[in-house]
Amino acid sequence: MSDRIKFFLEESKMPKTWYNIAADLPKPLSPPLHPGTLKPVGPDDLAPLFPMALIGQEVSQDKEIEIPGPVREIYKQWRPSPLYRARKLEKFLDTPAKVYYKYEGVSPTGSHKPNTAVAQAFYNKEEGTKKITTETGAGQWGSSLAFACSIFGIELDVYMVKVSFEQKPYRKLIMQTYGARCVSSPSSETESGKAILAKDPNTTGSLGIAISEAVEMAAKDKNTKYSLGSVLNHVLMHQTIIGNETLLQMEMAGDYPDILVGCTGGGSNFSGLVFPFLGKKFREKINTRVIACEPKSCPSLTKGKYVYDFGDTGRLTPLVKMHTLGSQFIPPATHSGGLRYHGMAPMVSHLKEIGAIEAKAYGQKECFEAGVNFARVEGIVPAPEATHAVKGAIEAALECKKNGKGKTILFNLCGHGHFDMKAYGDYFDNKLEEDKYDEAGINKALEELPKIA
Ligand SMILES: *Cc1c(COP(=O)(O)O)cnc(C)c1O
Repeated sequence: MSDRIKFFLEESKMPKTWYNIAADLPKPLSPPLHPGTLKPVGPDDLAPLFPMALIGQEVSQDKEIEIPGPVREIYKQWRPSPLYRARKLEKFLDTPAKVYYKYEGVSPTGSHKPNTAVAQAFYNKEEGTKKITTETGAGQWGSSLAFACSIFGIELDVYMVKVSFEQKPYRKLIMQTYGARCVSSPSSETESGKAILAKDPNTTGSLGIAISEAVEMAAKDKNTKYSLGSVLNHVLMHQTIIGNETLLQMEMAGDYPDILVGCTGGGSNFSGLVFPFLGKKFREKINTRVIACEPKSCPSLTKGKYVYDFGDTGRLTPLVKMHTLGSQFIPPATHSGGLRYHGMAPMVSHLKEIGAIEAKAYGQKECFEAGVNFARVEGIVPAPEATHAVKGAIEAALECKKNGKGKTILFNLCGHGHFDMKAYGDYFDNKLEEDKYDEAGINKALEELPKIA
């Protein structure tokens, strides 16, 4: 086995395909439903919002989907991304486990998000889209799509969740630097935004609300399309470049993971790393544990119901079967803005339901503690969202210490925290509130779930 700590894949070895887990599922996914007819949605229902190429990928059963040449060329600016063995963390934890992490913070915007942003902007450009609308939580997605749209010359409007718009002014300025327009959500530009503001002018906003605003604006104009940064099948699939690279890098390391860990907001960075490994698990019956880590304040996988629900608060999207806290739930304003979504990707929800993955929920203080410990030994400051994966990996490594088992653990360090230092400051000043699980709020939102037999 290698003594190295970094595993750089040569550019020429970068995988040329994305992996579509739909092809290997032991049981197929429940289809999205039209909210009016309750029939499965067809391509025509989605055509006002997405380019046909992405609609095709959303329902594709092909195992490998070729990454277009121009997308591969842009990926090469930061891909293949490095895989590290966390030897200093192993020593710090005094664990017999081996811990590896794939680092997606090397992209231009500092997270995994450009992997799908570039692909989505490419297919939109091919089909003549002039303008895209989208939502963003902490601003990672907005800045990544702004980067991609600037490359392809597409206009972009970003509806940014109000609490983050106010807490994270630098993210907004990055979007502006790339030429995008960033609006605090809920806004008075849309009917959905106005309806929410009329109910509660002081709302902190939510991803569910921002999605309604972006979808509404795209549906109104034939040259405008909508883009989502997570949750949908095609988004998860674009992220599998992460896992496809890691399969090759683990081979270079002469190792294979027993335990995979990722943080889950909508599920895309988690899926990007773990789907190629889950595919092998299904095909070759390998015993791999896969753990999704989410915040206690927004615990869709661990506490949500697995039912049909809307993807947005304004009830404009198709109904999808997923673990959900209810589309009317407004998660508390924690620092992990990227994890504040009421639902979970249908594909990730399905995998949880069939027992292929497990889920854990952590509080934000214990996650920041893990993030700080990680930074002090490994030198990289994780994004607040990514600290949930760090926490999950550390917990798994400490379990190995207790049992004396030298397992191999692999986690996704999906982004750096350079724009989130205010959150670290609050942690150091002891100003972080422990995540409150708003049981009453969630129960109320669950009562308002659409009733579907
Ligand atoms: C957006 C984001 C997330 C949450 O989204 P997923 O789709 O669950 O990956 C997590 N971490 C970072 C750094 C993000 O930017």
